[in-house]
Amino acid sequence: MRRLLKRHPIPHAIWQRVTRRMLVLRGLDAVEMAHLREMTTWFLDQKAITGAQGLEVTQSMRVAVAVQACLLILNLGVEYFDGWVEVILYPGAFRVNHAQMDANGLVHDDAAVLSGESWLRGPVILSWDDVARDSYQCQPGHNVVLHEFAHKLDGLNGAANGMPPLRQGMSRVRWAADLSEAYDELCLQVAHGKSTHINSYAATSPAEFFAVLSEYFYTAPDILKKCCPAVHKQLKLFYLQKASR
Ligand SMILES: [Zn+2]
Repeated sequence: MRRLLKRHPIPHAIWQRVTRRMLVLRGLDAVEMAHLREMTTWFLDQKAITGAQGLEVTQSMRVAVAVQACLLILNLGVEYFDGWVEVILYPGAFRVNHAQMDANGLVHDDAAVLSGESWLRGPVILSWDDVARDSYQCQPGHNVVLHEFAHKLDGLNGAANGMPPLRQGMSRVRWAADLSEAYDELCLQVAHGKSTHINSYAATSPAEFFAVLSEYFYTAPDILKKCCPAVHKQLKLFYLQKASR
């Protein structure tokens, strides 16, 4: 890692400009920021971030994606991003062919126009418009980078089902029980047409539930704590973030 940091450092000016006002990084201390910068450097060395539809991807854009993705694994380790190498950026929301959506274990979002999607053992695809907006505008419970890369953690053990490989010492039984109970309750509220405290998209599947609640964990922990305290506790054990989350 040290050699890598020397070989491909992120220029200080770019790091500062991209991260200074980034909402999800608020509350991180200097040690955590230094660690996150190392992981972001690793990410940019190991994963290709390429533009689609003629989008020219700048170093700042690469850092903006990588730093938010790495926030998820800051205390988990880089091996949690094993098994895939590519991130594709579209200029804006992109259309997908529905016929292909359920093959190959694709986890998809929205009906036909997407802000992001994540393939099991394949690329993460993001709309740059959405990444830019979520990075710097406060939208509680909304961050497309966190969402799509949370699917990557989830799919690491072969299936996107809301059960990522847990940290040592965590109980799979407890995790499954706490997340299932909250998921079932949300599904019930949605089925009865009740308004929900969190984005009802989370009721789509256990995989979407984990991805959406991960967005809340980082962008609106108070809402998550209030509506699903047991899930908040499990996510805190998993992501191992400090008291501020
Ligand atoms: Zn999703």
